Amino acid sequence: MLSSTLLAELRQQQGLLWTNPGYGQLPVPAGFDAQGTAVARARLQRAERLLATLFPELAAAGGRITSPLLSLPTLAAQSGLPEATRGSWWLKADHALPVAGSIKARGGFHEVLAFAEAVGLRHGLLQPCDDLAVLATPAARAVLQQYRVAVGSTGNLGMSIGLMAAALGFGAEVHMSIDAKEWKKQRLRNHGVKVVEHTGDYAKAVAAGRALAEADARTHFVDDEQSRDLFDGYAVAAEELAAQLQQAGRVVDAAHPLFVYLPCGVGGAPGGITWGLKSLWGPHVHCFFAEPVASPCMLVQLAAGETPTSVYDIGLDNRTEADGLAVGLASPLVAPLMASQLSGVFTVRDEALMVQTLDIYEAEGIALEPSAAAGLPGPRWLLDSAAGQAYVQQQGLGPVLGEATHVVWATGGSLVPEVEHQRFREQGARLRSSLQA
Ligand SMILES: *Cc1c(COP(=O)(O)O)cnc(C)c1O
Repeated sequence: MLSSTLLAELRQQQGLLWTNPGYGQLPVPAGFDAQGTAVARARLQRAERLLATLFPELAAAGGRITSPLLSLPTLAAQSGLPEATRGSWWLKADHALPVAGSIKARGGFHEVLAFAEAVGLRHGLLQPCDDLAVLATPAARAVLQQYRVAVGSTGNLGMSIGLMAAALGFGAEVHMSIDAKEWKKQRLRNHGVKVVEHTGDYAKAVAAGRALAEADARTHFVDDEQSRDLFDGYAVAAEELAAQLQQAGRVVDAAHPLFVYLPCGVGGAPGGITWGLKSLWGPHVHCFFAEPVASPCMLVQLAAGETPTSVYDIGLDNRTEADGLAVGLASPLVAPLMASQLSGVFTVRDEALMVQTLDIYEAEGIALEPSAAAGLPGPRWLLDSAAGQAYVQQQGLGPVLGEATHVVWATGGSLVPEVEHQRFREQGARLRSSLQA
């Protein structure tokens, strides 16, 4: 179902905004209901005392996994977009999520905690709905040590799962694709996590982790392509954002639309958050994903329809500096849901990611990893492109644009070593001057 025009445009790898013709048209697939999000929220609350015990950096926040909502006045002003219609710009700072340093803290921690709770129940260490703090006791650790958690990852999911699993006493094994960054592997090894490297791409690393777990009843495999526990953990973020917007005095309703721009890899994190946001605000929130030009797996899957279609199938190579987004095939769990809930997808060139990473550092003093900066061009795509303006018009949003709130979701970077940040900024500066030349 991919039109030849869209195919040709995607193959040029110049960056584009695709709006979803199925948006609001299709039914929500069976199996998605608000129950999962509520269960995840309650579980994360029961884990607060446990997390505050395990991680000193979480003690101050009482064990809550939260990130700030920051305003972006300088970037908004520098955009050159008209003040009357550009609305109010914000950054959801998940790059600063504690312990894991990325959005993966949300889904990843939730899934490991759910598994630990299940093991605890099986061994009579706790009762349903008990506080999870008991899992930090020596007796509980002795039980958890008999189990193992495995995951396949391009990097950040491995960090989140590996660090949480190891902290609880589980054996932890992370299968990484060759494009994962060296410092991430090193950090995991330093925490006692076994890192297995694979020469193929992300999907191969996932397959290896899955095979390992199938051969061993005491190994839990975190399946980034299929997991409900990950998805539900991500969805919890929506209520956190709602509370922060309210505190900031930002209303969301028909006269005050909310636009959210989320970097997308396999689709679990941005898909879970979109689901959560749609559950809260329905048609008044408009979610767009950002993907690298070489890895637009969600765009390709939604445009192709139901047949699984990867970026390789259309002649792209899935090679990008944005390691967290280097995924060839979208999640088969999340894609059918996004077919009706997602407003659109824009693609970003690696060069632009580097320049944006520098832009936000200079304008707001925020250090992101390049993947995490992918959402930044969102407001411009919406307000300043033909496809974006057509969407605004079709949704009848023109008259209320001035009252809109734009939230760019930043997804990783606070654990990135300073030398890496410097390298990103040097690359950004070089690319910016070559673009201007
Ligand atoms: C994983 C990741 C994403 C996207 O999450 P998916 O669930 O793979 O779609 C975005 N940004 C960063 C930095 C990530 O690590």
